[in-house]
Amino acid sequence: MTDESFDHRRLSNRILIAMGLGLAFGIALNLTVADQEWAQAFLIDGVLGVVGEIFIRFLSMLIVPLVFVSLIAGVSSLSDPKKLGRVGGKAIGLYLMTTGIAISLALLAAIIVKPGVGANPAETVEREIAVQPSFAEVLVDMVPRNPVAAMADGDMLPIIIFAILIGLSIALAGKPGERVGGFFSDFNVVVMRLVGFVMLLAPYGVFALIAVLGATTGISTFWGVLKYVILVLSMLILHAVVTYSILLRLFTGLSPRLFYSKMRAVLAFAFSTASSGATIPVTLKTVQQNLGANNRVASFTVPLGATINMDGTAIMQGIAAGFIAQYFAVDLSITQYLMIVLMVIMASIGAAGVPGVGLVLLAGVLASVGLPAEGIALILGVDRLLDMTRTAVNVTGDAMVTVVVADSEGELDHEVFQSN
Ligand code: ASP
Repeated sequence: MTDESFDHRRLSNRILIAMGLGLAFGIALNLTVADQEWAQAFLIDGVLGVVGEIFIRFLSMLIVPLVFVSLIAGVSSLSDPKKLGRVGGKAIGLYLMTTGIAISLALLAAIIVKPGVGANPAETVEREIAVQPSFAEVLVDMVPRNPVAAMADGDMLPIIIFAILIGLSIALAGKPGERVGGFFSDFNVVVMRLVGFVMLLAPYGVFALIAVLGATTGISTFWGVLKYVILVLSMLILHAVVTYSILLRLFTGLSPRLFYSKMRAVLAFAFSTASSGATIPVTLKTVQQNLGANNRVASFTVPLGATINMDGTAIMQGIAAGFIAQYFAVDLSITQYLMIVLMVIMASIGAAGVPGVGLVLLAGVLASVGLPAEGIALILGVDRLLDMTRTAVNVTGDAMVTVVVADSEGELDHEVFQSN
C-alpha cells in the first residue's frame, strides 16, 4: 500500500458516518437492552468496550515514538538553530494568548448567564480528585532525570526537551550528525506510515466508543445542570468557530472554512477519544499532509500544544468555577476572578492531554479562591460529553497555532493548504 492510497477525505467521511451509526446504535441499546446484565457484559463492556479500548491503545502506542522521532527529524533539519527559539517563542505566546481569551470569555459568560443559580446536582459518579502541581514542580519536571523513564511514562514535556537537545546536537555534530539525522528523517517517514495504518481502524474504533457513550449516558443526568452544559457547549463552539477563525484570518489571511474542512478527521478523533494526547498522531499527520505545515514547525508545536494548550478545558473550568460559586452563593471579587484566570492557565500548562484531567485539576482552581472542591460533584455526571467536546477544541487550537507559526516562518505550503 502506498501513501497515495491514504485518502483523507474518504476516511474522514467514513469516520463521521461511523460516529453517526455508533450514536444511533448506542441510543438504541440505551432504550432497549442496556440495563440487562447480558447486554452490559457482552455488548457494552464486551465487544464495544474491547474494540474502543484497542483503538485507543493503538493510538497511544504511536505517541512516544512519533513525537520523539519527528521532533528529532524536525529540529536536526533546521538550517538555523535560532529559528527553534523563534518558533518556540511564537507558539508559546500564541498558546497562552488563546487560553487567556478562552478563560476570559468563559468567566464573562458565567457572570452574565449565571448557570449556577437554581441548579440541582447531577447524578454523580465516583471520581478521583487530585491536586494540581505547582508551577515550580511543572518547571523542574520538564527536565528529564531519565529520558527512558519519561518515555515509559509518556511524559510529554521532558520527552520534547530531550528530543530537541538530541536534534540540536545532531545539527551541530558534522558528518556523524548528518548520518544520524538521515536515519531519523527516514524513520519519521516510516512512523508516519504507521499512523496511516492505525487511522484505517478509526471507523471501527470511533463506532465502538460513541456507541458506549450513547448506551451508558442517562438523559436524566443532564436536567439539573442543563444550563451549565448548554453554556459550556455554546462557549466551546463560539471559541472554536469565532476566535480561531478571526486569529487565522488576521495572522495568515487563510480561509477558516478550508481549515475546518480539513480538520474533520482530527475533530472526530479528539471527540471520540477525549484525549489530545491520543490524537497527536492524527493532528500531526493532518497539519503536515493536509494543511501544509512543515515538519520543522509542526513536530514541535503539535506535541507542545497537546500538553500546554487547552482552551476548551479552560472554558469548562471558568464556567464551572462561576457555576459552583453561584451554586454555593459565593460572591467572587475581581482579585478572585484574576486568580481563577491565572490558575486555569497554569492548569492548562500542567495538565496532560488525557480524558477527564480538566475536571481533576479544577479542584486546584477552586481551592485557590476558597471554593469547595465538593462542588465538582455537581458536574461529574455530565463531564464526559463536555470532555469530548472540549478536547476537540483543544486540538483545533493546536492545529490553528501550528498553521499560524508555520506561515509566519515561511514553512507553510500554501498549495497544500488550498488543495482539496
Ligand atoms: N481531555 C482533555 C484533553 O485531552 C483534557 C481535559 O479537559 O480533561 O485535551
